[in-house]
Amino acid sequence: SGPLDKEQMQGLRGVREFLKVRTSYDVLPLSFRLVVLDNNLLIRKSLNILIQNGIVSAPLWDSKNSTFAGLLTSTDFINVIQYYCQYPDEIGNIDQFRLCSLRDIERAIGVLPLETVSVHPMRPLYEACRRMLKTRARRIPLVDRDDETGREMVVSVITQYRILKFIAVNNEQYTMLLKKAVRELGLGTYKDLATATMGSSVLDVIHLMVKYNISAVPIIDKNNKVLNLFEAVDVIPCIKGGAYDELSATVGEALSRRAEEFGGIYTCNEDDRLDAIFDTIRKSRVHRLIVVDDDNRLKGIISLSDILKYVLLYGEEDDDIEY
Ligand code: ADP
Repeated sequence: SGPLDKEQMQGLRGVREFLKVRTSYDVLPLSFRLVVLDNNLLIRKSLNILIQNGIVSAPLWDSKNSTFAGLLTSTDFINVIQYYCQYPDEIGNIDQFRLCSLRDIERAIGVLPLETVSVHPMRPLYEACRRMLKTRARRIPLVDRDDETGREMVVSVITQYRILKFIAVNNEQYTMLLKKAVRELGLGTYKDLATATMGSSVLDVIHLMVKYNISAVPIIDKNNKVLNLFEAVDVIPCIKGGAYDELSATVGEALSRRAEEFGGIYTCNEDDRLDAIFDTIRKSRVHRLIVVDDDNRLKGIISLSDILKYVLLYGEEDDDIEY
């Protein structure tokens, strides 16, 4: 191993130490707003609330039992869509479904319910990261207990995006040591990529996301050049107002309805170094990077979980510590 390897490990160790001495609570901004949805709310209404608040997920609250009842995410809406595809005659009932029926929907379409892991906000951030990687969760709720009533309370939700941003902003002295290129690290996925074209239907792309268990599909032209990216969160505006029949619309049409504040898509090259990727994460709203060649042709995709996994686990012997 050369000096580059040594420096790289030094950078990784620095970041890991940082994650062990900071808590999930540290990631939260000084003041923030948390939208919590009552489990009894109609799914249709929850969709409007997410859109109105410019958010893509929210913790659920069971007010009958005063307990945290899981997270509502775009996966739940994708499940409802799958239900609609399997039981199209049910469309009238789908409109009346409440958030608490999401578990029944999972059962009806035969998907395993996602494990609802949570962490205490004062536990080390490293622990939240490990749990996310282990359960493949993209976000994790911070759940505390009220001293007086003994009840559970959801303090906030942290995402892989927030954590990587927090790392990037606070560890420039370590991330600058990560000089190895994407190609050398084998960072991301390069084989068997799920892709679609502008003319594919939204439903086709949703089926791809379910089949591959992924949250985004690159949209390419006939020369394999990258035109756009369809993300799981793009499904939300598609079914606003119960417009399930419009899912046969094309990806092109759906993407034209993206909100004004859409952050754009980010690409990188296989020769880009990890320190440069951290610079991009520091400066922009990156949720994944599409790897392209010099002619903008699709090569691969790097998800935030790919980056987090590398940063946390590369070279660690205790690969499967349990928390
Ligand atoms: P995250 O868990 O960060 O939200 P994804 O669910 O999109 O990311 O990705 C999960 C895994 O699948 C990652 O290892 C990623 O490289 C890979 N992946 C992401 N998108 C695609 C795709 N379109 N085709 C094939 N693999 C993908």
